[in-house]
This record gives sequence, structure tokens and C-alpha cells, in this order.
Amino acid sequence: MENSSQKFVVVGAGPVGSLAALYAAKRGYQVEIYELRSDLRDPSTTPLNFTKSINLALSERGINAMRHAEHENLIQHVFAATIPMRGRMIHGRRPDGALYEAAQDYDVHGRTIYAVDRAGLNKRLLDILDDMPNVKFFFNHKLTGADFKRRKAWFESRDQSPTSNRPDEIEIDFDFMIGADGAHSAVRYHLMKFTRMNYNQEYIDTLWCEFQIQPKDVSSGQSIESKFRISPNHLHIWPGKDFMFIAIPSDDGSFTCTLFMPGANFATLEADPSKLPDFFDSHFPGVTSLITPEELISSFQTNPHLPLINIKCYPYHFSSSVVIVGDAAHAMVPFYGQGMNSGLEDVRILFSVLDKHATAESNDPNHQKANDNAFQRAMALNEYSTIRVADAHAINDLALQNYVEMRASVLSRMYRVRKYLEEFLSVHVPSLGWQTQYSRVSFGNERYSEVVARSQHQGKVLTRGLLFLLISPFLGSLGIALARQRSGGIRSPFEMFRNLMSSSFNPYAEQHKDVQGPGDQRPTAIQVVEDNT
Ligand code: FAD
Repeated sequence: MENSSQKFVVVGAGPVGSLAALYAAKRGYQVEIYELRSDLRDPSTTPLNFTKSINLALSERGINAMRHAEHENLIQHVFAATIPMRGRMIHGRRPDGALYEAAQDYDVHGRTIYAVDRAGLNKRLLDILDDMPNVKFFFNHKLTGADFKRRKAWFESRDQSPTSNRPDEIEIDFDFMIGADGAHSAVRYHLMKFTRMNYNQEYIDTLWCEFQIQPKDVSSGQSIESKFRISPNHLHIWPGKDFMFIAIPSDDGSFTCTLFMPGANFATLEADPSKLPDFFDSHFPGVTSLITPEELISSFQTNPHLPLINIKCYPYHFSSSVVIVGDAAHAMVPFYGQGMNSGLEDVRILFSVLDKHATAESNDPNHQKANDNAFQRAMALNEYSTIRVADAHAINDLALQNYVEMRASVLSRMYRVRKYLEEFLSVHVPSLGWQTQYSRVSFGNERYSEVVARSQHQGKVLTRGLLFLLISPFLGSLGIALARQRSGGIRSPFEMFRNLMSSSFNPYAEQHKDVQGPGDQRPTAIQVVEDNT
């Protein structure tokens, strides 16, 4: 059967649904997109959940998925409106009260992630779809019901004219539905009635609220760079034990900032927002010189305080008629910057599996249903659910773990030692194929589950190596002590161990004590590593 006689319905015109529609349209299907809200390109539309359009970190997986859409201008257009971010800029206060900034590059090879305006990216995708003859939009249409056996769906259509308040319900038929309707997905809700879906949803005890750092007022002749109050090429973090404040650059010189904090702290400050500037001064030093106390209070009072949800489910499909992608399938906390990137990657992988089965089964002369689209799709969806679940669960878990890393580990010495060693090996012993976990997630397209496995392996090897370095002086000293005891020496192994644990222990001093004298402080192997980080 020709693709052009198949109707693909996409529910949700966010970034993931729009890219899925583009992939489907490029393959010649008749594509209909149903979106709850009005057209994002209409200036009167307020983006769902957001007061203003938010900035996201776009990285390789998202870029690669757009590259594979094979639309000549998409990547160029998206890149024209992005800002490269080469690393984190950690802000803090020294014990003497002075403010400091410390840059940590993401990648030893100089690769960057990109700050992108979510709405800008979404609008570009919608513009491209608008120009395709086989794509139809249905804005202000909310999915209210679906029968995935009979391939029928129902939408509430809201007439936007001021005289009409009553929603109409429409019924549609389809061959295949792609549910890209976000974390609170209606497609997923109806899919649960058709398949034995395992489902797990968790709210973390953190809310988020948005703030803005305004651009500098510069004269018209000056460059865009001079508009930024802090470095435009970093993701700025004010870490804290329980809180975090971050800032991502926008191309107009402003920064979109997000405060992440437990619900109880939000409640305290909601009761008395005038305490906010002092709170910021003690936890996020320097921010009140970038955002005035009045702006801080006003944003805190005006902008919503929103929850963060983590969703895992399985399977993602039913038969040949429906699949869920993006946040609908695996909403995650935003701390790895992978929510949208992984959703866009879903689309690339889904269509590569669909393409593979369309070709494989059609080329098999023994297959009775070789040219049956539904049969091919059912096989493909089964494979997609099976392979994607491990990866979606892996990135959901990494995103949760990265909250700890962003708030606290970035300041930890062990974290920096490991990063240094992995990057050192990546540059100087490339044949080992070592990379940091962050580089694998953000600069590559390896499966998330493989990233986790490789990273755990590297961690084990490093721990063993460090342990070996730690205990080898002890073992060496133990050998010398035993030899001395045997030859009438005086030091016991206990004494040696005590020396090893003392901060001034020097493995060489035992051998050269008399020559070098007591003041010699040649570093141990561990000290050398730390001094280099
Ligand atoms: P959505 O963007 O939620 O779009 C779903 C669409 O479906 C919406 O347009 C909605 O109106 C529509 N819809 C809903 N219900 C229905 C219905 N019943 N009928 C019809 N239509 C419906 N990701 C990154 O990759 N990098 C980041 O740096 C990053 N930062 C983030 C920071 C924050 C604070 C948050 C909250 C998220 C962040 N994310 C980030 C995650 C990212 O925003 C989401 O993963 C991404 O928007 C998901 O896209 P989506 O298209 O799957 O869903």
C-alpha cells in the first residue's frame, strides 16, 4: 500500500510532535496534527506552563534528530538562533566574603551545547510543516477519547470566536497515531486501556520559578556580546545544598534564570516575599547585582511555581495503531538538559525502526503479509518499545542524579579528580575510548543505557586504580618493615599504617630519610592528581 493512502495523526504540536509530523510528511503520509492550544505563532498564545518562552539546552541528540529530518534549512535556521555554551560557570562566595566565578568546560575536546529558544525552534518546525501539501493543522483541538482497536479518536474543538463558548466534539479515523502530548498525555491515558502498561510517576520535592537577567543598555553601535551582563557562553550555576539557581543566555543579551528549591522554602518565601533579596544574598551571591530586588520579588510573585515530574512507563505502543514519544513517554526532571533532546531522538529512532521493517518485510517473498503496512508497523513498534525503554529509563535516572551533581558535586574534589582523569585518558590514550559521562550523553548518540554501563565500568576501573595507588605505598612499606624486622629492624606494620594515614606520609622518605632529612615533602601520587585538577 502506498504511504500516501495512510493517515498519520500526531497529537501535540510541541517540539517532539512537530518533528514527528515532519518525519511522517517527508515519507509521504497524510499527516494531521491536533493541538490543544492555539497556534504558537499567534502572538496572543501564551506557551503552556511558561510565562515567557523558555531557553533550553540543545545538544547532539536533538541536533542529530533534526539533521535526519533531511530538511535543508532546518538545521541552519535553528543554529542561526542558538548560543554555544562551552561549560558551566560556577558562582559562589569565598570564606573571606569575595565573590568568585569558576568556569568548568563541558568537554576537553571543546565541544559545546547550545542555548535555544524553545518557542523559536517550535515555530520554525511549524513553518516548515505549513509549507507541506500533505500536512493539516487542527489547533484548539483537545484529544478526549480514542479507540485504538477501531482506530478512531475524538477531539473537543473550541471555536475561538467570542460568541461561541460551547466546544464541539469531532470524530476522526486514522491509521497510526503518534502521541506527543506532553507529560500529562491524554494519548497515554487512553493507551493504558488497551495495553498492560506499567506506569510510574513521581513528583520530586522541588519546584521551579523563572526570573530574567535583563540585557545591558548599550548604544546602538556596540556588539551584541557587550549586552550580556555575565559570560554568554556558559550555563551559569549558583549551586547550593538544597537549592540551585541557573541562568541560560538568550540572543537578545538577556538570561532566562530558574530557581529550583524545595516546596517548603517556596512556602516560607511566599508568606513574605520581601525576604527574597536577603535569601538570594545568602544563597546565590551576586545575583542581586544582576536582578534588582524589585524584579526578583515581582517575578517570584507573578511567575508560577511549578512542579517537576518524572514518568516511566512501558510499553509505548499498542498493536500497529499508536505510539507515545517525548514527555508523553518519559517526562524527566530537567537537570541533564535532555528532556527535549531525548524526545527528538525518540522520533529519529522510531522512524528508523519503521523504515527498517517496511524494507525488511517487503523484501521477504515468503512473508504472507509482506506488503501489509499494519503488520510491518506492529513489528516495528514492538521493537521500538523494547529497545527504547531501557534508554528512556536510563536518562530519567541520570537526570535525577544530575540534580545532586549540579548542586553539590561540581564543588567536590572527587568529582573534579574523576573528570580530570577521564578527560586526560580521552586526550592522551584515545585508543581506550574513555569519555566523561556528560560527554557521552551530550555530545554523542550512543544509547543512554550503554552510556550508563560504560560510565559505571570506567568508575570501577578508576576506583580500583586509585585504591591500588593508595595501598601500594603501604604494601611496599610493609615489605620493607618485614624485611627490617627479619634483619632486627624496629618498625611494626601498625606503625607503618599509622604513618601512611598521616597527611605528611611520604613513601620515599623511608628509603632516603637520612639523605633527604625530615623536611622533605615530595607529594604522593594522590596529591599529584589533586594538584592538577
Ligand atoms: P510538550 O513540549 O509538553 O508539548 C506537548 C504538546 O501537546 C503541547 O503543545 C500541548 O499543548 C499539547 N497537548 C497536551 N494535551 C493535549 C491534548 N489532550 N490534545 C491535544 N494536544 C495536547 N529539555 C532539554 O532538552 N533541554 C533543556 O535544557 C531543558 N530544560 C528544561 C527546563 C525546565 C524548567 C523544564 C520544565 C523542562 C526542560 N526541558 C529541557 C524539557 C523539555 O521542555 C521537554 O522535554 C520538551 O518540551 C518535551 O517536548 P514534547 O513535545 O514531548 O512535549
